[in-house]
Amino acid sequence: MGNINPQQVIEHLQSKWGESKCPLCNSGKWSVSDNIYELRQYNKGKLVIGKIPIVPVIPITCDNCGNTILVNAIIVKAIDPSEKETKDD
Ligand SMILES: [Zn+2]
Repeated sequence: MGNINPQQVIEHLQSKWGESKCPLCNSGKWSVSDNIYELRQYNKGKLVIGKIPIVPVIPITCDNCGNTILVNAIIVKAIDPSEKETKDD
């Protein structure tokens, strides 16, 4: 998965969150990752290649305390859902 446009994500989050502060330290400075990560379904410790759903997430980290929030990359429009690839081999 390629890089994303962090500014687009920030604008989307500002439209939804407003000026939300970190719930842990009450700081208002967030950093948005410019990469998308994957959450893979747990499968009893085994690595399974096949039709396992992947959740694309973008980490949003509080600059002050490190609290990290994961947002869904499709919902924040960082990626087009039609580009979603299934991982079947
Ligand atoms: Zn914080």
